[in-house]
Amino acid sequence: MIIVFSQTATVEEKSRVKNILEDQGFSIHTSDGLNTSLIGVVGETSRLDMNLIREYDGVEKVLRVQEPYKLANRAFHPEDSVLDVSGVPIGGKKIQVIAGPCSVETQEQVTTIAQAVKAGGASMMRGGAFKPRTSPYSFQGLKELGLEYLKNAREATGLPIVTEIMSADKIERFVEDVDLIQVGARNMQNFELLKELGKTNVPILLKRGLSATIEEWIMSAEYIMAGGNENVILCERGIRTFEHYTRNTLDLSAVLAAKKLTHLPVIVDPSHAAGMWWMVEPLAKAAVAVGADGLLIEVHNNPECAWCDGAQSLKPAKFANLMQELKIIARVIGREA
Ligand code: PEP
Ligand code: MN
Repeated sequence: MIIVFSQTATVEEKSRVKNILEDQGFSIHTSDGLNTSLIGVVGETSRLDMNLIREYDGVEKVLRVQEPYKLANRAFHPEDSVLDVSGVPIGGKKIQVIAGPCSVETQEQVTTIAQAVKAGGASMMRGGAFKPRTSPYSFQGLKELGLEYLKNAREATGLPIVTEIMSADKIERFVEDVDLIQVGARNMQNFELLKELGKTNVPILLKRGLSATIEEWIMSAEYIMAGGNENVILCERGIRTFEHYTRNTLDLSAVLAAKKLTHLPVIVDPSHAAGMWWMVEPLAKAAVAVGADGLLIEVHNNPECAWCDGAQSLKPAKFANLMQELKIIARVIGREA
């Protein structure tokens, strides 16, 4: 961390700042130029409050020279992390696609869709059993029964299960039953949940929060990793902006940023970003073109009657067609789909 003093800072003000930091165990390197006087603070500076230091008398500005995240940081881990989700490598050459309904509705529904997405080329299946709904009167998910249906669909297809967790009291059950645990946008900053997930060794799919900055999103990954679970996959799913035509605004530049700043796999969910099925295919292609390691796509065999998010769900035939077209884009950028 670098602290730049104002030109009018007195000797006493500068030594006071140095003393406060030295008393906390930091070492200080001083540089006094003709017009600018600054200090470099060396030590575990991520625990320092920049906003507080900026308010000290004599301080002009405070700069971080390092990002506040360590374990997720590409600087300390230059190679891409390739995670193993029950035998499916994610983050490597092959783009992995997770597909399935927004919510698990019936056994027949989830098994039929799982078989269809497998035939279309998906390598994992999704389905919400615990649903974070904006309204308490909307369908809240089949909960434990939904997990049973997902497990039966896994049995029938061999596809690993991706499903969302909403509270820490379900972790034991999820560790037992789920291959990739999803933390939804609404829980991205549920730090107690993240800390508890950090104690498991199950891969975590961490969605970007509704209005989270890229750094906040990475810091949430850091929470999980700091607990000992380094198996984190980031998922860009659109952010809230002033635009209301689309459900959210898909931030594809965040994929580039997250891949530059971290070594974690980054996937894209065009379904929740767009909110409309006809945008899913072109956005999925764009995501692959910018370098996403995978996709999360909502697919329903009868979207008109879906219990949740039918408007953004692809029918199986459209999904299978998209998978074929993704192969072409993947090849152009030296990857496989
Ligand atoms: C979901 O994937 O079902 C979901 C609720 O997504 P998000 O958390 O991105 O809104
Ligand atoms: Mn959904």
